[in-house]
Amino acid sequence: MIKNFGFKFDNTYVDLPEIMATKLPPVAVKKPKLVVLNQTLADSLGLDFSENTDELNAEILSGNKLIEGSCPLAQAYCGHQFGHFVMLGDGRAILLGEHLDPKQQRWDIQLKGSGRTPYSRGGDGRAALGPMLREYIISEAIHFLNIPTTRSLAVVTTGEDVLRETNLKGAVLTRVASSHLRVGTFQYIAAKQDISALKTLVDYAIQRHYPELINAENKAIALFSAVMTRQINLIVNWMRVSFIHGVMNTDNMSISGESIDYGPCAFMDHYDTKTVFSSIDHYGRYAYGSQPVIGQWNLARFIESLFPLIDRDGKKAEKIANDLIANYEDLFANAFHKMMKNKLGMISDEDQDKRMMTDLFKLMHKNQADYTNTFRYLINGKFPQEKLLNDPDFIIWEAEWKKRLSKNQNSEDAYKLMIKYNPVFIPRNHKVEEALFEAEKGNFSKFLLLCKIIKKPYDEDLNQEDYTKPAPASNRVYKTYCGT
Ligand code: AMP
Ligand code: MG
Repeated sequence: MIKNFGFKFDNTYVDLPEIMATKLPPVAVKKPKLVVLNQTLADSLGLDFSENTDELNAEILSGNKLIEGSCPLAQAYCGHQFGHFVMLGDGRAILLGEHLDPKQQRWDIQLKGSGRTPYSRGGDGRAALGPMLREYIISEAIHFLNIPTTRSLAVVTTGEDVLRETNLKGAVLTRVASSHLRVGTFQYIAAKQDISALKTLVDYAIQRHYPELINAENKAIALFSAVMTRQINLIVNWMRVSFIHGVMNTDNMSISGESIDYGPCAFMDHYDTKTVFSSIDHYGRYAYGSQPVIGQWNLARFIESLFPLIDRDGKKAEKIANDLIANYEDLFANAFHKMMKNKLGMISDEDQDKRMMTDLFKLMHKNQADYTNTFRYLINGKFPQEKLLNDPDFIIWEAEWKKRLSKNQNSEDAYKLMIKYNPVFIPRNHKVEEALFEAEKGNFSKFLLLCKIIKKPYDEDLNQEDYTKPAPASNRVYKTYCGT
């Protein structure tokens, strides 16, 4: 073990019941090379890599060298993948430990692509460079869009190839998360029928993410309700910026309410609720517009795993759970409505608001309007959406909207609100693909430019017009891959 560069490990997961994890180190890689380090994130975590050689940093961030205080382990979990229950676990990730930042906040530091574990099933435990850079860029973009997410600290190439459809460069991503507790973690313990471990896990999750619930009468119910609130907030925010997660399996739903596990995720250009990019989502289970209902489905699986702690009488537990889950629809609809009001600068509450939203969605869909730019157009009248703007129904809609805004007490506030809720830049799929394509060949300039742009998604003065446009028809990305 070597000195710590500001890492202050204080590991708690390792003290949980033994069945929840397997202690093991990452599998060493041949020739690690640092390709990107997130300096801003490192600074906020109180980490300092600046005095090390690039070689040493690469050794650390690939897992070849372990930092003092780390206690590497792979976590066990299950998940419903596309509706089917599977025993999973960290098949290609290792939790190095929990780091306390200068504000004493606790962060999981995890390596992804770090070699085989007992949970690898048939997999090689490795990751390819493209998907790891993809997670880096999209997770950072989501963060700067003001949406809860895991972060990316670094990507290191391994000097080894990974075999997918072809040979690809191998890489390791360092992921930072407020924890890696998933709905699937609870499903795993429930499947083992270990009620004592389940209780411990509920207490642990509350302590780590919802300390205000420590004295709740029924902790399982309190935890469930809090997770539901955060998940609703998360999915509403994804919808706000046209994000499609792509694999909302229960193992990819975090108890903290952060976005996690970036695979075939992508942003929608033209508004269509049926939009799906993922190459493995054949039936559109995780389409843009299906995300709310899938959120509810996943939460139902979560509460099922808590049944033994909700009531000793299974029937009673089920009834309580059903009632709680039934609240989701109204809670979601309210949160979504509020978010859309912000996007449209609607401050006062008017009877016409909901209808106007529905009308706008219909008009965007009919005219294949770019979602992001339609809202930006309402702010500054700048981005041309020819088909939409020439639609007589949209002209009527826009006139009504302007009149509607005058019902707010202060029109200045409406614009301020709209600017805050409507990004100028989202990582457009074709731009992401282009940047990754170049990076895989060793040219990182486009990747780095994209990293810069996504840091200021609400800033119109960046002069990066090209990055605000949807893909031209000749360059549309139809499929994204999870790269496992
Ligand atoms: P994901 O689709 O990334 O959420 O992964 C689903 C499950 O497959 C998790 O248990 C992963 O750890 C596992 N997995 C994904 N890729 C690999 C791989 N290359 N080797 C071993 N396990 C993997
Ligand atoms: Mg996953």
